[in-house]
Amino acid sequence: MTPSQEKKLRVCPLCEATCGLEVTIAGNEVVQLRGDRHDVFSQGFICPKGTALGQLHTDPDRLRTPLIRRHGQFVPVSWSEAFAEIERRLSPILAEGGRDAIAVYLGNPVVHNLSLMIYSQVLLRILRTQNVYTASTVDQIPKQLASGLMFGTFTTIAVPDIDRTDYLLMLGANPHVSNGSLWTVPDFPGRLAALQKRGGRCVVVDPRRSRSAEKADRHIFILPGTDAHLLAGIAHTLFAEGLVTLGRLEPHTSGIAEVEAALQSFPPEAVSPVCGVPSETIRELARELATAEHAVVYGRIGTCTQAFGTVASWLVDVCNVLSGNLDEPGGAMFPKAAALAANTFGAPGVGQGVRTGRRHSRVRGAPEVQGELPVACLAEEIESAGDDRIRALITVAGNPALSTPNATRLQKALDQLEFMVSLDLYLNETTQHADVILPGRSPLEDSHFDVVFNQFACRNNVRFSPPVFEAVPDHPEEWETLLRLAGIVNGQGPDADIEALDGLVIASQVQAAVGADASPIHGRDAGEILSELANRRGPERVIDFALRSGPYGDAFGARPDGLSLARLEAQPHGIDLGALEPRVPELLRTPSGKIELAPEPILADLDRLAEVQPAASRGGALVLIGRRSLRSNNSWMHNIPVLMTGKPRCTMHVHPSDAQRLGLEAGALARVTSRAGSVDVPVEVTDAIMPGVVSIPHGWGHDQPESRLGVAAERPGVNANVLTDEFELDPLSGNSVLNGVPVSVQAL
Ligand code: SF4
Repeated sequence: MTPSQEKKLRVCPLCEATCGLEVTIAGNEVVQLRGDRHDVFSQGFICPKGTALGQLHTDPDRLRTPLIRRHGQFVPVSWSEAFAEIERRLSPILAEGGRDAIAVYLGNPVVHNLSLMIYSQVLLRILRTQNVYTASTVDQIPKQLASGLMFGTFTTIAVPDIDRTDYLLMLGANPHVSNGSLWTVPDFPGRLAALQKRGGRCVVVDPRRSRSAEKADRHIFILPGTDAHLLAGIAHTLFAEGLVTLGRLEPHTSGIAEVEAALQSFPPEAVSPVCGVPSETIRELARELATAEHAVVYGRIGTCTQAFGTVASWLVDVCNVLSGNLDEPGGAMFPKAAALAANTFGAPGVGQGVRTGRRHSRVRGAPEVQGELPVACLAEEIESAGDDRIRALITVAGNPALSTPNATRLQKALDQLEFMVSLDLYLNETTQHADVILPGRSPLEDSHFDVVFNQFACRNNVRFSPPVFEAVPDHPEEWETLLRLAGIVNGQGPDADIEALDGLVIASQVQAAVGADASPIHGRDAGEILSELANRRGPERVIDFALRSGPYGDAFGARPDGLSLARLEAQPHGIDLGALEPRVPELLRTPSGKIELAPEPILADLDRLAEVQPAASRGGALVLIGRRSLRSNNSWMHNIPVLMTGKPRCTMHVHPSDAQRLGLEAGALARVTSRAGSVDVPVEVTDAIMPGVVSIPHGWGHDQPESRLGVAAERPGVNANVLTDEFELDPLSGNSVLNGVPVSVQAL
């Protein structure tokens, strides 16, 4: 290191693995970026995306100044001009159309950013629109719903205790590339190797021989969208062969008999022709799961983004419960996060559970889940006439023009809005439709704390990162921008006192905690607590409060050895809070105080599952699935030069037998057509995909004329969501069907 260089520590905000990074800087440049070997959780692991944070910081296309569209062109303006324009355009819509005339879309990066995570919720609480959409309904909401119905909150999700398991069965997941999803597991490759070294086994079930499947001990092909059938066959076998062992959970679980009865019609012989997995293999999986000393089933994106996403997600944990592996070391366990986990609030062991359908979308009548409507409904809610239609949209760190089904229709609908404002790092395929774009800050200019991913971590831990770089003067933090938007929709105008608004945010949280019986600060003086927090502002103050009043906190002096943000700041590599520990019944928040294994809406959906016809009856039609790349991050990070080297990644994988039948040649273009649209994509012939299935990765299609992504535009790829269908949903959760989309393919 030269005298002008400095070392900083920062948790990577890009994906769920949350790796600790060591960043060497000189001035405003990153000189070197590597894994922090002393990080208590990731211990030096890093992937290529993490090393690219420096290029993101200096990317000339990253927006630094607000933009306003004037006469069809974006022009840079000051922050005050931008907020004045938002006030001028949004207020009449609010006055005439009411709150529901303004929709909000929150993208995936929101949950990776402390400011956005906490203050987007403040904006929503103040706006009170019914039209809330997020990336959850093209991703994980089925798992959240299934878990919510069983355990009582939408974020009480069991994760594999990989470091102690002997048998890991994974469906529709590729953690070798993702490093986990709804499962924070940095260095999955190393942890898998350790599992295998101690004699354990990993089995991957996937329509594609993914990188995870290559590294597993066994790979089983399955037809897209039929994971629920396979899992039902496994659960049926556990019952039929007397392999059910509830163990410690027996007195804490209800609905076993109902589940057994409901699964009667799913013996392996019945589900095998549907899912394409031999019945004997299904029985083997059930026996392996039941007899391994420590075993766990994990399902992810492929099990969610399908027509039976909620049923499949539920069956994952049904198998974990029946085989005696839920809430047991080496099985599927529940992390205990240090701050803001719903399953650490309220009285332990009982709660109100989760409810859905408290309102429905205007056009299609789709039910709300977790306070949001399916994003697949967004286009029709803008297009369809009526006084109560969506007239304005606020997007926050989202790119629905690439990420949501029938993207062509949504892109046209965005142009029908009367006003659109986006908070984003880039002028991209979505924000090009906006009237005002407010730039976010470089991730390296913000402090960082993982609110969400500590709730899914394979080991309990807590870390805080201060900013690596000083921010550009006058560039507000994202939370300040969101509070300014909140002030506008609250009728206080663009010059609202956001410090006062922020004061209300923390005061309401403190008041709630001192009034809650189960809180460690119950009955304390709210003013006294607030005065102890007075040296901080914004999200750091919220986190300090959450840590101190959380399960490991110092309770503002009552537990002197407990956590506070100051204590955490003194541990720059983080604090290890230990291996996951059994938490049932303490973490349950269901009305019965038990694991409710037989939720009525899910059991009712099994009739639909039983009606699915064997694949042979579909006449050999092709179906489309997605895939993930280590160097892509959904639709963004494609503008980072170091991540765009190598051979083109946006290709269509097709099996040699299908390629021969259709006359497709490697490297040539094929036209892929679905009900929703058509794309021309280069062909890659590989036996890593099963016959009858083709795969195109999502997040591409950077060829839009107004976007400003110079590097991405050189290799734009095609938008797979031109092909996905906005009318195909998992009816329980509202999640889009993005895997198993019927397509035809023709050589060009
Ligand atoms: S695995 Fe995820 S968190 Fe870790 S360095 Fe890569 S992008 Fe960052």
